[in-house]
Amino acid sequence: MSSVGELEYACVENRLVGLPGFGAKTQEKILAGIRQFKRHQGFHLYANVIEEAESILVAIRGTPGVVHADHAGEIRRRCEVVQGIMLVVAGGQPQSLVHALRGVPEVTQVEHQPETRTLVARSPQGLPVSIKLTEAAAYGWELLRATGSQEHVEALTQRLQARGVVPRSEIEKAIYAAAGLPYIPPEMREGHGEIELAESGRLPVLLEPGQIQGVFHTHTIYSDGSATLEQMVEATRALGYRYIGISDHSQSAFYANGLKEDRIRAQHAEIAAVQKKLPDVRIFKGIEADILVDGAMDYPDEVLATFDFVIASVHSRFNLSEEDQTKRICRALANPYVTMLGHATGRLLLSRDAYRVDMKQVLDAAGAHGKIVEINANPHRLDLDWRLCGYAKEKGVKFSVNPDAHSTEGLADVPFGVNVARKGGVTAADVVNTLPVDAMAAKLQAMRP
Ligand SMILES: [Zn+2]
Ligand SMILES: [Zn+2]
Repeated sequence: MSSVGELEYACVENRLVGLPGFGAKTQEKILAGIRQFKRHQGFHLYANVIEEAESILVAIRGTPGVVHADHAGEIRRRCEVVQGIMLVVAGGQPQSLVHALRGVPEVTQVEHQPETRTLVARSPQGLPVSIKLTEAAAYGWELLRATGSQEHVEALTQRLQARGVVPRSEIEKAIYAAAGLPYIPPEMREGHGEIELAESGRLPVLLEPGQIQGVFHTHTIYSDGSATLEQMVEATRALGYRYIGISDHSQSAFYANGLKEDRIRAQHAEIAAVQKKLPDVRIFKGIEADILVDGAMDYPDEVLATFDFVIASVHSRFNLSEEDQTKRICRALANPYVTMLGHATGRLLLSRDAYRVDMKQVLDAAGAHGKIVEINANPHRLDLDWRLCGYAKEKGVKFSVNPDAHSTEGLADVPFGVNVARKGGVTAADVVNTLPVDAMAAKLQAMRP
């Protein structure tokens, strides 16, 4: 066999079951994996694409004659998963733009298509690149159109038509103004109620990366992280944050070297020592505790009481029925020692579906018990999904944008979580880790039983 297609065919034809070490179950798993792979072909994580998209934009902006150039499409809307790179450019000769694109390392198949006034190419990872050429006087409209989403642009176009306005302007903001609306940030342009919010003057002032004061959900070599406690604290300081919440895995996470009680005591002693050495970053003692199958936490209360905060996460038994999974998580949220819910649905973008769970019930429970819900900033997770942020806000739920860092580099994922928060219409006031360190400490203290 030499291709995925052949492997799929072999599975369908039951050719794998007879092989040594293979059974019907293995074959079923392989087949499910192939289908997943095919479903996600052509899709890429935002975090894996943004760097090459930026290098293309830099090259275009540096081309003689260019007056405006920006990302458009999914990249500009900061979608968690993207299929291509789109730009809009005003000014510059097509030949010089082609020349600039050819100068970007590993960009291939550069071509000018005059009939559509577009440059096309392939990015280093093979994503389709499409660059719309326009004149400066129409730049705002072309940028708005290329940014999408389609639903958003259609709704806006209808409003403009109803007002008899021709949407040709250099500046996007002027087009929204002509439609009787304030400027809508690109992240929110998903046809997800943003025009109604703008119309009624309820458009939120979105969270900015610079407003994040500290980070929760970080792992060290005590469990499955790759850096020491001290290295994680140093890296946190280097990023300009004022506090870090350490949360290694709990004892039932044996695969991740989860902490038994003696190792919790050892870590707390080390935290005290590192805190003395590095006093300008406040270290909060936490744990990422497994939610057991019945919704209990996997430490007794007297152990949970030794932490400043407890993240409750599902790491096992993803196959429960929706009803059981929902009950399980809601029960964990009722535990007085639980501070926040980690990666709410367990999804891994482009590789693992969420477990079956009624997220509205979960968010109802989080709101009722005053728990924080994590926006996991790991580019593979980005869970809580931004589509649920509005509902969570209605229920009074606060968020924490957490890197779930397993290395010092992982701490730098926070901005990906901020993107998701912005897409979900989340403001600084909705996010606990925008609090200054003393207020954060007081909040955690107040949440303890
Ligand atoms: Zn986890
Ligand atoms: Zn984690």
